[in-house]
Amino acid sequence: MKWYYAEGGRQVGPVEESVLDELVRQGTVRDDTLVWREGMAAWQRHAAVRGSSSAGSGSGNGSAVPPPSPMPVSAPASAPASASDTRYCSECGRPFPASQLTSYGDVLVCAQCRPAYTQRLSGGPRRFGGFWIRFLAVIIDVIIIGVAGAIIRIPLGLAGLGVGLGLGRNPDPNQVLAAVPALMSLIGLSFFIQFALSLAYDVYFLTTKGATPGKMALGLKVTRSDGGPISAGLAVGRYFAKILSGLILWIGFIIAGFDSEKRSLHDHICGTRVVYTR
Ligand SMILES: [Zn+2]
Repeated sequence: MKWYYAEGGRQVGPVEESVLDELVRQGTVRDDTLVWREGMAAWQRHAAVRGSSSAGSGSGNGSAVPPPSPMPVSAPASAPASASDTRYCSECGRPFPASQLTSYGDVLVCAQCRPAYTQRLSGGPRRFGGFWIRFLAVIIDVIIIGVAGAIIRIPLGLAGLGVGLGLGRNPDPNQVLAAVPALMSLIGLSFFIQFALSLAYDVYFLTTKGATPGKMALGLKVTRSDGGPISAGLAVGRYFAKILSGLILWIGFIIAGFDSEKRSLHDHICGTRVVYTR
């Protein structure tokens, strides 16, 4: 009897029953390893089909890996050499080059099945955050960044005040002229600090929490289109795309109100979505 077993989301086999027994002894095939042979309707846990092995490792990971749907053996002629690069989508069971599959733990999913799979993982259809609630979240963030920025820039304000007072005591035109570069660089530094602060704010909170405090407060988060988390690179890109959305008379923000998935211009550019967390 020829057996197949799943290892790392990949189908291995066929192997003889005696070989399978040996794999069980070695611990390669465990109680929760999915196995299949011709005649079985679907992949099943090894323990359910052939009984628990006495040396079962009991990995503790009780959650059963979803069966990679029945994989017919009807193509045993597939070249064994290249088979190492072929993986099977856990959802539809079709073979793909390993590079085209996304792995979620032990589960490999193809590009077509990914949206449905991640949606199921997150439990139910996504609800997208509309224009007004996002507008509110932005206002909260602007207030937080504004207050934090004002506190950070207090020393700059004091320095500017010092220059001004010095000139007041000594209103010599040459002195005033000499102070201009100093004042200009204080203003420039002030703008730069505010810019760097808001960029760091977005990147830090999007990568660690999946949402800025304003969005968190309103039960929103930012995800990739496939539901995945935001990387630092994507967060930086989205920040600049957001500036673009604002530059064109805020139209980039407003279009979120008319989009089927409530995407702003920067969501379109970056392939992101803003969704409710509950
Ligand atoms: Zn698939």
